[in-house]
Amino acid sequence: GNANLYALLSSGFPSDKSKTAIETPDRSYSYADIDDMSARLAALLRALDVPDGARVAVQVEKSPEALMLYLATIRAGLVYLPLNTAYRSAEVAYFLTDAEPSIVVCDSANLAWVSELAQKAGTPHVYTLDADGSGSLAVAAASQEPDFPTASNRPEDLAAILYTSGTTGRSKGAMLSHGNLGSNAQVLNTYWGWRQNDVLLHMLPIFHVHGLFVASHGALLAGATMIWLPRLNIDQALSYLPRSSVMMGVPTYYVRLLADKRFSREVCANMRLFISGSAPLLAETFDAFRERSGHTILERYGMSETIMLTSNPYDPNEGPRLRGTVGKPLPGVSLRVVDDEGGAVAPGGVGNVQVRGPNVFSGYWRMPEKTRQEFTGDGWFRTGDLGQLGGQGIPDTYLTIVGRSKDLIISGGYNVYPKEVELVIDEMPGVNESAVIGVPHPDFGEAVVAVVVPREGETLDGDAIIAQLKQSLANYKVPKRVHFTDQLVRNTMGKVQKNVLRERYKAL
Ligand code: ATP
Ligand code: MG
Repeated sequence: GNANLYALLSSGFPSDKSKTAIETPDRSYSYADIDDMSARLAALLRALDVPDGARVAVQVEKSPEALMLYLATIRAGLVYLPLNTAYRSAEVAYFLTDAEPSIVVCDSANLAWVSELAQKAGTPHVYTLDADGSGSLAVAAASQEPDFPTASNRPEDLAAILYTSGTTGRSKGAMLSHGNLGSNAQVLNTYWGWRQNDVLLHMLPIFHVHGLFVASHGALLAGATMIWLPRLNIDQALSYLPRSSVMMGVPTYYVRLLADKRFSREVCANMRLFISGSAPLLAETFDAFRERSGHTILERYGMSETIMLTSNPYDPNEGPRLRGTVGKPLPGVSLRVVDDEGGAVAPGGVGNVQVRGPNVFSGYWRMPEKTRQEFTGDGWFRTGDLGQLGGQGIPDTYLTIVGRSKDLIISGGYNVYPKEVELVIDEMPGVNESAVIGVPHPDFGEAVVAVVVPREGETLDGDAIIAQLKQSLANYKVPKRVHFTDQLVRNTMGKVQKNVLRERYKAL
């Protein structure tokens, strides 16, 4: 059979092609439109006479047409490379030079500087696509035929290069194949109980795994309908939720919904599933959401290199959704927690999370050395996350993410897991949230430092926090200093940027 991802996704399209696939506040697209528009765009891309495996780099605002461009690229057997819309010219220059795309698509507002960069990087074709779907890409596609034979691909053929979020350092291009994406989409289709009458409230960006793959593939493979909004806007979310059945968000989306008094059980009456990921969901948010909406958020875990790895159960027969955990390895995913020497860590112990499975990428684009380092001799991928299976009354099949190995603090020879300290601080009255980091220290190597966000209107005392921590934690885990701030620095996916915090507080 053909392992092309578009072939797989379209196998799930409804037989009635007039069904709405994507709806925006002012436009609507049927499954026939998806077929038609992706065919024209695929024909256009192929007419440019670019080689197999050519990269199509795309930095555009979220629109239905941007999704069509993604589908067209896959359908044509080319390689999709989405870029965060926040990236400015120095950043885009790096990606274009690194990935050497044959085609670049950008917003017309950026055409001047993107063209210049494309020329320097040797990219022959530049098109524009604006938020309203207009631009030179649409004009060129209009003259193409609306039928296109989907390319024939093997599972190992490259489908996309996803640059990691760059939370821990320079972004790396994760090479994902048709087989990686397709197998994960199929597993999630079953595991999360996707159905044709689902309506997905899609408010995530589409330059990242969460919005582009997990959310869109889920809806398309099920032949469901997506409500397509450029970002989280609370008024819009509240007006569409009553018609939706599935929502995916980063944790801050749930925090913001809860902050609005209008968010209620009635608003969620039609919903069957709220999913959270990309960053840790606070216990407090999990509880408050259940209380207010009657729904238990399903938290899952994954990354650019692997798409989805673990999930709390959808089906109660598979077990409960456990607060603070990211659930169990998905069917087909093998997951282990090991020490730095690769030895097994007993349940309840913290170690390095390693994974294998049909969803795991083949390597980092043009980084063979890095790729070798991040896979063990026996083929397991080192996720870079620290985790724990079971522990504290949790079944051994459930994983808890404790943090990233790069954020582990080694103070006076002792390992300090930031999450353990953060959880205690977060429970204190007047604390909104916290981040615990290590900063260079002449005696201890690293000193533990806490950065605390007080609740609005609260004034907190750092010494009192330290004194309180000393009652529940070993001395080496207790921060030497507590700094206060209004907001933790986060990137677009809601991830706290601890590298930025370390830099900011290292000299204080
Ligand atoms: P870089 O690899 O460039 O430092 P990044 O790891 O943030 O960036 P992504 O691939 O976008 O880039 O993010 C994957 C990471 O997000 C995971 O390794 C994990 O640390 C974190 N993550 C994802 N889901 C969860 C979750 N539910 N709970 C905690 N962390 C999560
Ligand atoms: Mg990473």
